Amino acid sequence: MIQYSLEDLQTILQLDSRYYGFLDLSDPKNSELKELIQRTITALQDEVAHSYSMNIIKQHDGKLVPTKSDQPISDGEHIKENSCNTQYQSKDFKWGMSNETSSNKSVAEIDEVDVNTYCKLGHLHLLMYEHSEALSAYQKYMRLCEKYWEDHAFLYGIGIVYFEFRCFKWSIKSLQELLYLNPHFTCANEAHLRLGLMLKANGEFRTALKHLQLALIDTSPSTFTDLQVKFQIAHLYEVQNKHKAAKESYEFILNNKNVSLDLKADIYRQLGWMYHCVECLGEKKERESNALLFLQKSIEADPKCGQSLYLLGRCYAGVNKVHDAFLAYRNSVEKSEGNADTWCSIGVLYQQQNQPTDALQAYICAVQLDKEHRSAWTNLGILYESCGQLRDAYACYSNAIKRISNKKIGNGQEGNKAVFSKSSTNGLTKGLAQRVKFLESQLSQAPLPSITSKRRQLCSIEEAWNLPISLEINSRQQQQSVQMQQRQFGKNPSVQGPPPPYPHSHGSQSNPLPAKRSKDDGEYSNQKNLNEQQDKLLHQLSAQNRQALKNSSSPGPTSSTSTSETISDRTNFGSEIISSDNIKEDTDANDLARIVSTVTDQKLKIRCQNISTKLSEDQGLNNYDGTNVSIKYESLTNCNDDTQNNFKDQKPKVEYDNDQESLPTFNIQMDSKQLLSAVKLLPVDEPPINFTITAKNAPPPAPPDCPPQRLTREQLLPPTPSVHLENKKNAFSPQLQEFCLKHPIAVVRGLAGALKLDLGLFSTKTLVEANPDHSVEVRTQVNQSPDENWDVSQAKRVWACISHRSHTTIAKYAQYQASSFQDSLKDEGDKGSAGSQVMSDSDSKDSVSNSNINLKRKRQKNGSKMLRFGTNVDLSDERKWKPQLSELQKLPAFARVISAANMLSHVGHVILGMNTVQLYMKVPGSRTPGHQENNNFCSININIGPGDCEWFAVPDAYWGGIHNLCEKNSISYLHGSWWPVLEDLYKENIPVYRFIQKPGDLVWVNAGCVHWVQSVGWCNNIAWNVGPLTARQYSLAIERYEWNKLQSFKSIVPMIHLSWNLARNIKVSDVKLFELIKMCLLQSLKNVFHLQEYVKSKGVEVRFNGRGKNEASHYCGQCEVEVFNVLFIREQEKRHVVHCLPCALKLSPSLQGIVCLEEYRLSELQQVYDSFTLYRTQGLGQAH
Ligand SMILES: [Zn+2]
Repeated sequence: MIQYSLEDLQTILQLDSRYYGFLDLSDPKNSELKELIQRTITALQDEVAHSYSMNIIKQHDGKLVPTKSDQPISDGEHIKENSCNTQYQSKDFKWGMSNETSSNKSVAEIDEVDVNTYCKLGHLHLLMYEHSEALSAYQKYMRLCEKYWEDHAFLYGIGIVYFEFRCFKWSIKSLQELLYLNPHFTCANEAHLRLGLMLKANGEFRTALKHLQLALIDTSPSTFTDLQVKFQIAHLYEVQNKHKAAKESYEFILNNKNVSLDLKADIYRQLGWMYHCVECLGEKKERESNALLFLQKSIEADPKCGQSLYLLGRCYAGVNKVHDAFLAYRNSVEKSEGNADTWCSIGVLYQQQNQPTDALQAYICAVQLDKEHRSAWTNLGILYESCGQLRDAYACYSNAIKRISNKKIGNGQEGNKAVFSKSSTNGLTKGLAQRVKFLESQLSQAPLPSITSKRRQLCSIEEAWNLPISLEINSRQQQQSVQMQQRQFGKNPSVQGPPPPYPHSHGSQSNPLPAKRSKDDGEYSNQKNLNEQQDKLLHQLSAQNRQALKNSSSPGPTSSTSTSETISDRTNFGSEIISSDNIKEDTDANDLARIVSTVTDQKLKIRCQNISTKLSEDQGLNNYDGTNVSIKYESLTNCNDDTQNNFKDQKPKVEYDNDQESLPTFNIQMDSKQLLSAVKLLPVDEPPINFTITAKNAPPPAPPDCPPQRLTREQLLPPTPSVHLENKKNAFSPQLQEFCLKHPIAVVRGLAGALKLDLGLFSTKTLVEANPDHSVEVRTQVNQSPDENWDVSQAKRVWACISHRSHTTIAKYAQYQASSFQDSLKDEGDKGSAGSQVMSDSDSKDSVSNSNINLKRKRQKNGSKMLRFGTNVDLSDERKWKPQLSELQKLPAFARVISAANMLSHVGHVILGMNTVQLYMKVPGSRTPGHQENNNFCSININIGPGDCEWFAVPDAYWGGIHNLCEKNSISYLHGSWWPVLEDLYKENIPVYRFIQKPGDLVWVNAGCVHWVQSVGWCNNIAWNVGPLTARQYSLAIERYEWNKLQSFKSIVPMIHLSWNLARNIKVSDVKLFELIKMCLLQSLKNVFHLQEYVKSKGVEVRFNGRGKNEASHYCGQCEVEVFNVLFIREQEKRHVVHCLPCALKLSPSLQGIVCLEEYRLSELQQVYDSFTLYRTQGLGQAH
């Protein structure tokens, strides 16, 4: 058994994931440490192995002596301690024993190895950069440890490993949980940074920016320099097409003296390529010369960068400097051989030089390197078509289309991402689809190809594919990554990794490629041979481009230029591809990869020094040479207790505060005095972690599983709860409110009639007369039938919903709305009812709209028609909208915008669209994509008419299922815009209500109900939120508040502020609601007091500031979390910005330069807390 000195043990105890990237074990200075880590890993592995062999022996014994499986009582405690999900345990132990083993037994056997051993193993492997080993150890820990989330270093470690493996979904989850549980985590900046990079890659730009900025303001040591983070932010602008902002940010970084050579190379490359592509950056000539200049500078700064050389080639090709272009491409291939883009561009250049055979070979190189390369496939198709080989062209185009739809699935981003590649992709796909159709018909008429037919100019795609030009480097890479995934994710690598690039997996039989290809897959053995072929082609380059040069240098229109014209002319999309913007996407990925590698390469010295000094300090402190201890995890932890006093000071900020049993507990039975004295027992050496409602050890919030009950087809399409109102009395009956509260969603039919509401006040005509210049937000959308959502190319049903935002006025939108209606009348030659009446008269239940729509739907099948949806028109201003708002006073209390029984009326300030009215102006097909209301509040929606709206709704219990489907479709549930594919929902056992809302109908959306709406006819709607005073509403609001926090999504209902107001304003007799609110008050009072104690301990004064009447509640200017009562103010750009404590500490760890203000005196909060008691009453009402 290996022996350890106490110092060694202490060192090992300290090491965890937080040193990742800071501790360079390849540095000879750290060789001793490295050796120690290695030794420990071996010892811990031995421990694990030993326990397994013991298990096997035990199992044998067990069979001989059956009673042994009954655990002695003394082991009971152990079992309890580890009684995590037995399902997981037995799964996990499969390899150690037979499947029949009872779960009881496996519990006993797990006791042999302390679960923390796995976590430690994970950390140590991570520090050794043994990522796969780290991952498997971490995963084991996660499966075995019931409350794994309590170990923040673990969450960080596994998040990092997932990141390194580019498993962004899982990495994001772990790091979000970490930051949610502990925003003060030592490496919070590293977590924010990686979240920023991953969300950028996922197209969630807003959240990405937030995280990158949070990483940037953090002053603690980082593996990234400030300039590198700034580069990422500039790049974030670039991928959002904010070119000017990007350019300025890049230039700003270049002006810094400290910019590294690598970063310079990156920036020049981005700038150069932007000048090449982006028209708004100046005159074409000037741009082209700037592009060349910057790319050359980039290559100067980093001569090894194949990407810059490739882009340089593209720029040369763009200005027709063919020779230089070939040269650059050649250099690029030499630097980074496995680049399909380069080969594709080489192909284009050859094609332009009228050298089809060489072009063919280059394209084949490209598609063999990247089987998803749609540009190469398309260009190859164009090439074949130009040589009259239609069958081959057809095969290539078909492949290209498949690639696009695949890409769409993979990349199917929320709206904004799709924007930057949309237009060209759209046109491209349409052109391609038409081309494929055309060829299909041509080929069907053509005679069968016979051997005797005239000689082909090019060899067929099959032959070309089988020419051994493939690159083994690439195939090796692929194999490696597949193997790695298989190792990480068990039997089913396709679930996690990218789809296998082989066409036959999506395949159609008609394609000649798949069969051949699959043969290829098995024959990667002749790799050497292949590589020679590639070399050959490469060498041809230099010989041939001399000739090419001759061609292009001859004056006048040469054959080469005319060739390129015919390519693009005939197909009408050739040119688009040649300057395709998919490059940009690819550079994205490359950048990330590059950055990732720089992170791991550049080990910041600071932390390393920290640790080495720490180690030497430890050694100095403990001249304790005699004691050697054999290593076992338990002994490590025991040792920790003994020596804690010795090196508590040297511990890097450690977050293990959850195991201290001596800490006081809190409950709502405490009065405020007891609470405050309990808080005084809490330590103030670490900043308090701010929780609203979740108890300390609760798991981080997560979307719930769907209810397990299997639903029949009928149950999947439930009838919509609806009531028809006859008169005013019906509308005001308590039964109506009860009915609404009972169902996920409800339609109250005939409400306007029963209450004699004048809906005409909200008709477009009246609105224009009242406030013609009032602002309207516009969404430009594709017109589609309500149960369908196609991708831009109309090739596939998708979830992602595209809409572009702009603004206009009520008058202008009204014009559009009216003319759209007139057009439809003209189009259909409809003899029916008068059009002019329709826009103003709400009472005309207009049948025209519906019949028109049916015709419209048919028409749009051919080409997608765009429409404009006028949304979020703010009707909050009482002076501007007096008649409208007072008309709504006629509604029963539970549906009114303002009422005492509406929580949102207790917020004390305006939340636009929630406790104020918003108006929607629609033409047929206007879509409100799927969502839950802000913080899960209920909503009221009245259709003004004249047309109808169609609603889809899913009970709140199923939101987790929809969340997962969004994730599957690569769309963010909270941030993205999505339109569910109904069949997907049914497959997942998710029921959907579907109904028509007629003019005058009120739709009640209950708390948490997921819904999406599309207008059938021309109509206006009005809507707002309400918060009934029920436990269900309150707890769903709080749940979402916490989930939003984890997702970095702003909760626009300030729940803490609201809860204090509720406590002041209302009496609650519902026990559950009371307990929930009281718990929130307790947590928040505890936090406020703890925070103040902490701030005072840092020598910072808390100044009383008070609060203005109706003053809006505060949010952190950095992370957008609600800040209640204790505000940290810092002047930023002459503005006083409110911060939460974690953000304030990021800016200034000592809180220097930050003013701490208090909004309410502690005594006031205490008084509110103490006097908020359960209201006992015999009556019916819960609150008055
Ligand atoms: Zn903050």
